[in-house]
Amino acid sequence: MKKTRYIFVTGGVVSSLGKGIVAASLGKLLQARGYRVTIQKFDPYINIDPGTLNPYEHGECFVTTDGHETDLDLGHYERFLNVPTTAVNNITTGRIYQNVIDRERRGDFLGKTVQVVPHITDEIKRNVQILGNSDYDFIITEIGGTVGDIESLPYIESVRQLRWELGRDCICVHLTYVPYIAAAKEVKTKPTQHSVKTLQEQGIQPNILVLRTEKQLSEKICHKVALFCNVDEKAVIQSYDVQSIYEVPIVLAQQGMDKIVLRKMGVPLKGKLQMDKWKVFLNNMRDARKSVKIGLVGKYAELPDAYKSINESLLQAATYHHRKLDLRLIHSERITVDNVADHLKDLDGVLIAPGFGQRGIEGKFIALNYTREHDMVTFGVCLGMQCMVIEFARNVLGLKDANSAEMDPLSKNKVIDLMEAQKHLTNMGGTMRLGEYDCKLQKDSLAAKAYGKDIVRERHRHRYEFNEEYRQQFESHGMKCTGINPQTGLVEVVEIPQLHWYLGTQYHPEYNSTVANPNPLFMSFIGAATGKRK
Ligand code: GLN
Repeated sequence: MKKTRYIFVTGGVVSSLGKGIVAASLGKLLQARGYRVTIQKFDPYINIDPGTLNPYEHGECFVTTDGHETDLDLGHYERFLNVPTTAVNNITTGRIYQNVIDRERRGDFLGKTVQVVPHITDEIKRNVQILGNSDYDFIITEIGGTVGDIESLPYIESVRQLRWELGRDCICVHLTYVPYIAAAKEVKTKPTQHSVKTLQEQGIQPNILVLRTEKQLSEKICHKVALFCNVDEKAVIQSYDVQSIYEVPIVLAQQGMDKIVLRKMGVPLKGKLQMDKWKVFLNNMRDARKSVKIGLVGKYAELPDAYKSINESLLQAATYHHRKLDLRLIHSERITVDNVADHLKDLDGVLIAPGFGQRGIEGKFIALNYTREHDMVTFGVCLGMQCMVIEFARNVLGLKDANSAEMDPLSKNKVIDLMEAQKHLTNMGGTMRLGEYDCKLQKDSLAAKAYGKDIVRERHRHRYEFNEEYRQQFESHGMKCTGINPQTGLVEVVEIPQLHWYLGTQYHPEYNSTVANPNPLFMSFIGAATGKRK
């Protein structure tokens, strides 16, 4: 069996430094050297998974192929590596404790006192190594949070133990922040020194430091950090601000980070770094002159992380179409009949976002009414698709009270209704219709043309569905159900073929769109938006 090596990515000083991007970028570089890589994230919060978290807390909830609700960093891992993740790629403290407590209730500990060390740390270590039994050369594990946090302690202790047990097959990359103090015109390394010291106090000497900084740092600064933090000077890498997250692998490669990692782990350098396709993508992004103006209508307009995968899918598709993405986030709560034209009239395309609950929903109906009547290129994703159905029911079918059972359980025309399997559930966590399912596309539909095939698999996250009882009525008035789940008959795609490009999906095509493989529906949407707008 192959030998698997482990790389931990920890963070210090402040959160939101982009540990996920650094982990994904390092993964990309190792992959580009021909190694099999996967990345996992350990989150130190008590929720079993982020599925119950509101986007204000944690941004988007990303869904894996096997239907696990996870941290948005897994989206970055997939977009960079073009390799799907699964449930084991994201573990929280809640799940670790749940596993240990379940075993305690079963009597597995044979009368022993169950403690953080060794029982919780053993469970963390077991989870780190689950993926090691697969065919991977490298497992990169990002530890969420910041060293020094109370919550992080068991994770850091587990990393310490694994490093001791695995020797050279395990290294630690520590990411810190080097602030620039404008008033003093100086960058400051003290927070980095303190953060490394905290890590050292907890028994870990980082092998590689990545310094996040706004501006490029001088050699002198890197030398100082190396000296005070006990790290090779070559292994002090900087990750300065760049235009796009997709440039980070190149920035790290220029400093030889992949080679440093391999050398530290005693792995002979093999092959050349194959980043040609990645660089073509970056050049296209940089060289694009014309832009494509897309409006994203949602209730978290002030919070771009809430729609991370959609934003990235749009960017990828725009780049493949040689356009700069000009993305306008439009707050659905602020859209009224009087101002809708001002918001939408200059856009090349409109995407109605997924979501839950009543807030901002009427604005989505107003926007859709406008885009449908003006034959604008329009894409509805999940709740966005459900809103397309409701707007059509109200304004074309004349069912004035049409609604989703989610918004108005008493409506006489629930054109979107609770799925049968959801009706008797009491637990909210992990109980939606989640993960990949097949969808059969109608021949010659817009969707079938976009994908170039008639069976596709896409990921889901919803409780409500198109109400089959109304299907005939919709179809005879021009809204067609062009994608159906072959096992259950559930409607997955709706389109209005008389319009130029007006399509909604019950599934989330944004979850599988990657740099190497942009999702065909996003490609088709941007294609329509860039040229063919009537
Ligand atoms: N709230 C809707 C449902 O549960 C849509 C969910 C979504 O947009 N992800 O069916």
